[in-house]
Amino acid sequence: MRRLTSVFNFIAVAMTVALLTIIVVHTNLVTATEQAMQRSSRYDSAWVGAAGRMEILYLQKALGNFLVSKDRRDADQVALFSEILANRFSIYNAPGFQAFMDMKPKRRHLIETAAVEYGELRPLLHAVETLDAPALAALRQKLERVFAAVDRVGAEAQADSVNEAAQIRAEMQAKQKLQTWLVSGLFGSIALLLGISTLQNRFLRSATRTALRSAVDFSYLAHHDSLTGLPNRMAFTAEFARAAASCGDCECTRIAVLAVDLDGFKNVNDRLGHAAGDALLKEVAERMTRTCATFENNLLTARIGGDEFVVMLDASGDAALIFAQAEQLRAVLSETYAIEGSSLIVGASVGVAISVPGRDPNSLLIDADIALSQAKGSGKGRVMEFDPAMHDIFIRRASIEAELASAIAKDEIIPHYQIKMDVASGRVRGVEALARWTHPTLGPVSPGEFTRIAEESGLIVALGRNVLQRACRDALCFPEEVGVAVNLSAIQFIRDDILGTVRDVLDATGLPAHRLTLEVTETLMISETDRAVDILSRFRDMGVSIALDDFGTGYSALSYLRQFPWDELKIDRAFVMEMETDERARSIVGSIAAMAHQLGINVTAEGAETPGQIEALRDAGCETIQGYHFGRPVPFDDLPRAILHGVAAAARLHMGEATGHGRTDARRRLSA
Ligand code: C2E
Ligand code: MG
Ligand code: MG
Repeated sequence: MRRLTSVFNFIAVAMTVALLTIIVVHTNLVTATEQAMQRSSRYDSAWVGAAGRMEILYLQKALGNFLVSKDRRDADQVALFSEILANRFSIYNAPGFQAFMDMKPKRRHLIETAAVEYGELRPLLHAVETLDAPALAALRQKLERVFAAVDRVGAEAQADSVNEAAQIRAEMQAKQKLQTWLVSGLFGSIALLLGISTLQNRFLRSATRTALRSAVDFSYLAHHDSLTGLPNRMAFTAEFARAAASCGDCECTRIAVLAVDLDGFKNVNDRLGHAAGDALLKEVAERMTRTCATFENNLLTARIGGDEFVVMLDASGDAALIFAQAEQLRAVLSETYAIEGSSLIVGASVGVAISVPGRDPNSLLIDADIALSQAKGSGKGRVMEFDPAMHDIFIRRASIEAELASAIAKDEIIPHYQIKMDVASGRVRGVEALARWTHPTLGPVSPGEFTRIAEESGLIVALGRNVLQRACRDALCFPEEVGVAVNLSAIQFIRDDILGTVRDVLDATGLPAHRLTLEVTETLMISETDRAVDILSRFRDMGVSIALDDFGTGYSALSYLRQFPWDELKIDRAFVMEMETDERARSIVGSIAAMAHQLGINVTAEGAETPGQIEALRDAGCETIQGYHFGRPVPFDDLPRAILHGVAAAARLHMGEATGHGRTDARRRLSA
């Protein structure tokens, strides 16, 4: 098409040039014709010349007649033709003939000489009757010279005219030929131009059709998600604005927005690759479309981001219906997926916001998003309704998110240390490094809060490295027998070369590996257990101890205990809190400890705050106890004092004295 347009433009330019040339040639031709006309006026000279020749013939004839007849009438004829010839000489002096005369100087000389001679003979021609025979003969002789001159000039005039006419005709013919060529070229070009313009029109029509089709396609693409085919954020925003506009103060027109997000989608992408992630999203979209199609009040289902989906429902009816529908969606999305030949379980969280009469409905999507992040924050896999109080939580979270990266980069998040008391000896067995951060405006933020946000953004990798590095460096200053425990997030196992990181940190700091314990939670074991076990085994090969943290919370499958030879099992504070008052909590902790001991695992109890709890934990057979009773987490500089305080507290509880309680080290017991 572009090439055709170039050809078209080229021909158009060529035609313009041709047209201009034709105009120039035509003007030239007109000028040439005018010149030819002017030159043709020299035909007069041919006539003048020819007439002169005729007139001398008449004069010669009249003189001949007189010489024969001597008749007066013939003498009169001679006088008459002599006058005509005399008149001819005066015509020779006319400007038209002068131009011809000027062409050859000899010619002028010839005629002028003949005119002079004739001027002398003219009176004699009027008086031929009076002349005798010799005079007449002399007259005839002189006249012959005059006649010869007139005849010659006349003949030349005729010949010149004929030549010039031929030359003009030839020039005119040449120019006409050129004009014919140009006109033919012009017509040819016009025909070509018409052909090309027809072709171009056809192309233009087809291009217009293509453009129209593209516009339709583009509009579809602009409003639909290319992966799932669902309406996208743009389409949702437009549809939502329409629906929100129809929401007045009337109860009867209410809309609900369901913000849906997959739990652990990032893990799928990270572990199984983006192709699997895409396949999962397609399946999710299909399930959502299928489920929402069964809702009579369904208005729109859209995908507005990576794994973020949104459903708009007509909420004019019972609000309970909306929550039932949200729950149904969540349940459908939580069913097992078959992706690339393997089964996947991915949960979903749903935030629900329903328009309230008198409140701007435009904030509904934000409200639903806030409810969604609350649902995620409080354990995932649930439906949560928006509550205005969530706004503050949301703003707090946004503020933490905004500051977190720079706080990590500036090393503002540092570990504090909490001592772990050895029940048998009453001494400090080790310390746990717990990250601490003071937010510039919010003040101290709990690690439970910021580590979760760091996990979601991936910042946990940098944060975890910083804490590990600092803890290992600090541990070099601890007493030789005091080890350090560092918490690791399951995300660090996915997003970081955690083996390499730990190895590098140990190398860089020089801390012996046996003084380091890594605390992981069971979430690490839930998916890809084999890979997790492999990495943990390598840590153990390096000499690093591994603790299973927060045991007793979540699923706490006992099978995790036999899947890996843990060095330490940390019983969650939730059990410890109940131990003084709840017999069942006591027997559960006792059973867990017994089972762990059977497997050669040391047991640590977390969150012991009272002597009663500590007594119960000793009875249950826990080897190590950690809790506020012995000391809260403190900065590195305060650790010596915290150790003294912990040992004193242990002494008050007669720890380290043989009491008959089950305080023997589990390993020793197992080997016995
Ligand atoms: P965790 O690893 O189970 O740490 C024990 C938590 O219990 C700590 O909370 C500790 O301060 C608290 N605690 C200890 N004794 C008592 C007690 O007697 N009473 C009460 N009420 N609490 C007690 P903290 O420091 O707020 O940490 C919370 C969680 O944040 C940790 O639980 C751990 O999972 C996570 N965390 C802390 N630092 C890090 C870190 O550097 N990396 C990672 N990945 N997670 C961390
Ligand atoms: Mg821990
Ligand atoms: Mg814990």
